[in-house]
Amino acid sequence: MFGPDLQRRHGQKVHKLALHGDFTCPNRDGTLGHGGCTFCNVGSFADEATRHQDIATQLDQQMRKVDRARRYLAYFQAYTSTYAEVVQLREMYQAALARADIVGLCVGTRPDCVPPAVLDLLAGYREQGYEVWLELGLQSANDHTLRKINRGHDFASYRRTALAARALGLKVCAHLIVGLPSETHGHVLETLGAVLATGVDGLKLHPLMVVQGSTLERVWQRGRIAPLALDDYARTAGELIRHTPPEVVFHRISATARRPTLLAPAWCENHWLGMQAVERYLIEHGGQGSAVGAAWEAGLAAG
Ligand code: SF4
Repeated sequence: MFGPDLQRRHGQKVHKLALHGDFTCPNRDGTLGHGGCTFCNVGSFADEATRHQDIATQLDQQMRKVDRARRYLAYFQAYTSTYAEVVQLREMYQAALARADIVGLCVGTRPDCVPPAVLDLLAGYREQGYEVWLELGLQSANDHTLRKINRGHDFASYRRTALAARALGLKVCAHLIVGLPSETHGHVLETLGAVLATGVDGLKLHPLMVVQGSTLERVWQRGRIAPLALDDYARTAGELIRHTPPEVVFHRISATARRPTLLAPAWCENHWLGMQAVERYLIEHGGQGSAVGAAWEAGLAAG
């Protein structure tokens, strides 16, 4: 897991501080569309109240809430955190890196919003000795699913960006969602296979959540999708972990949202339920990497 991995490499605890860079997203500002990805309500994972605060103020506020670490990663999380001119990005990232207690950056973005100039900017920080993670929202490697959830990019776009980033020495963390409409357990394992074949350094797993204000809310209100069951999530997330080699670091194995923003599944309100269910599955069936090299067909046949 990411926390122990950071502690081992930095010799002390390192905490990730989530920042809002006042970005938007091409899937919302009309460049690609206005509605966004069907599952998305940015307010469910980002603090919109901080949108217009400068980076130094956000860092001060976040650090005051953390008493178990003295070193931090600045995590540009909300919306598409590479979606601006390079000169603006440089100013923002450097405002974070100017602090002596910041050991690096995590930059969350879409695969189609990382032009070569942005990769070069990030690679420059890596060369200065900072830890730099490019967090790419992929969700699924299945192009049919990507169209259905209105992502506005395909798997080839992810692959190009991941390969280019890793060629420059940047660490890539892929975000995947378990439980997307029309996806089976087998589809999710196929996504993992495609991501591993491309090459990846970290993974973040999320259960599909229905949140207020998303397109998915209307589908759910009409009863056309059922909430993801905790046991189903644990099994699929557990198999993803078992099929992942030990050198790939899991940054997250479940996710939560608060009510009233969260509509379903109810278990996603509790921070621990998803993680504990996945951990139980792994204790019973074997830990990370225990199924590497096992026939993928076994997982595929199951769903
Ligand atoms: S998930 Fe990301 S890319 Fe999709 S609409 Fe939300 S902010 Fe935009």
